[in-house]
Amino acid sequence: MGLEEYKRKRDFKQTPEPPPKLAKSGQRRFVVQKHRASRLHYDFRLEMDGVLKSWAVPKGPSLDPADKRLAMQVEDHPVSYFDFEGIIPAGNYGAGTVMVWDVGTWEPQGEVHEMRKGDLKFRLNGQKLKGDFALVHIKSRRPDSKGTEWLLIKHRDAYDQPGYDIDKYDYSALTKRSLKEIAGDEGSAAWESSRKASTRGGSGKNDWLADSIAKADAKTARKSGGAKTSSTAARTITAKAASAVPGRIKEASAGKSTAKRAAGQPARSAATSGAVKKNSTL
Ligand code: MN
Repeated sequence: MGLEEYKRKRDFKQTPEPPPKLAKSGQRRFVVQKHRASRLHYDFRLEMDGVLKSWAVPKGPSLDPADKRLAMQVEDHPVSYFDFEGIIPAGNYGAGTVMVWDVGTWEPQGEVHEMRKGDLKFRLNGQKLKGDFALVHIKSRRPDSKGTEWLLIKHRDAYDQPGYDIDKYDYSALTKRSLKEIAGDEGSAAWESSRKASTRGGSGKNDWLADSIAKADAKTARKSGGAKTSSTAARTITAKAASAVPGRIKEASAGKSTAKRAAGQPARSAATSGAVKKNSTL
């Protein structure tokens, strides 16, 4: 699929979401983002072929094998979307609040490329989601079907939980904040691509997670200091986030372009007057 559709739907001068960029490595991470757009839904994303294959799951994933969750495949997202948590400004595609609800790694059970056959079995090792799942493509008989409908199903194993209620888990895997807390936290809208996505060696296999958490912590700590989201503040956040973690100072330059982009952003009120696109729920 590539990232063309992702790019086409977004104005990167307006949204704090990461730019479209293919990643090289073949790590197998997954993320579930809780996304309160015009309708609340969850976005389930598997790292595969240098992108995040993505599905919008209206009711969210479940650990109850009796729940077969509708999952609408949406455009591939860049791997750097993996730890995006914050606010997509009004008037932009998917405008609303995004929480990193769960993160972890996945392993295919069987052939990875069975995805093309519409039957993907995999094991998740996340903070909230664990164990075996399947994504099964539905062959819809509806004439207007786009062929994007799948079902996300938990298999029976040591991790299944009959009666699973996703609403009991309204906290970020990175910052422990609730969706409301994220929504009220203006500072979280400043996307910082200070972490290089992928291309890590075998040592420190969970570095990616430590980086994401450190970045989110630095941002939250700064936020509690009461700084505002001016371009100057954005630059400060990025510099602090970069220096808060040993070995990441060299990546501070990545933050510069972010600060520049933030400085070049028009006032948010200009964005709110724009029409919300038809598919903004995703
Ligand atoms: Mn979404």
